[in-house]
Amino acid sequence: MTGAVAGLVLSLGMIAPSVAAVAAAGYDISSASSLQVVVNKHRQLNPATYVPAQLVRVQGERLRAEAADAYKQLTRAAKAAGVNIIPISGYRSFSQQASLYDSYVSQYGQATADTLAARAGYSEHQTGLAMDIGNASGTCALQACFANTPAGQWAAKNCRDYGFIIRYPAGAEATTGYTYEPWHLRYVGKNVALDMGSTETLEDYFGLEAAPDYLQ
Ligand SMILES: [Zn+2]
Repeated sequence: MTGAVAGLVLSLGMIAPSVAAVAAAGYDISSASSLQVVVNKHRQLNPATYVPAQLVRVQGERLRAEAADAYKQLTRAAKAAGVNIIPISGYRSFSQQASLYDSYVSQYGQATADTLAARAGYSEHQTGLAMDIGNASGTCALQACFANTPAGQWAAKNCRDYGFIIRYPAGAEATTGYTYEPWHLRYVGKNVALDMGSTETLEDYFGLEAAPDYLQ
């Protein structure tokens, strides 16, 4: 393919994301305190050491107040349907994220660690808007097979009604930079969650470039 043809293909490829960007206009995706902030391997939190102003404790974990309220509603509804969802990991500080990432690097090496956990400053868990969930039984905790468990199935079907999305869907690693994480729920508010496709990424929804790897 010549450079000119490649350029044309690239610009045609840009049509769909820019339409999405228009549809999603009006949301602040850059301020660390925004409920719609987009953090990925190309978009570091600003500041990297951001700490939410108000964190609320939920069953031993912490979330931003808005996300905590929504999370409580979600787990209550799940329980009413006979599904017991437990929190595994909510808010993490910069230094907690750094320790987690470093432990993965020493266990698996940096390349694998980068697919498993964010570097400090690049984690949604630092926003207080993300919660890793599990089954009370512990089945498939933080594993892809979580998707086939009661909590995983219930969350995938219903989380958007409470303003949460599955942030790292199956098959979207080239866009999000992360393998499938059916347990990682991200609060974005009901309007955005319900407007998004059930397996859409925030990058696609907001018309952002794919962020498979860190830029440095
Ligand atoms: Zn997570």
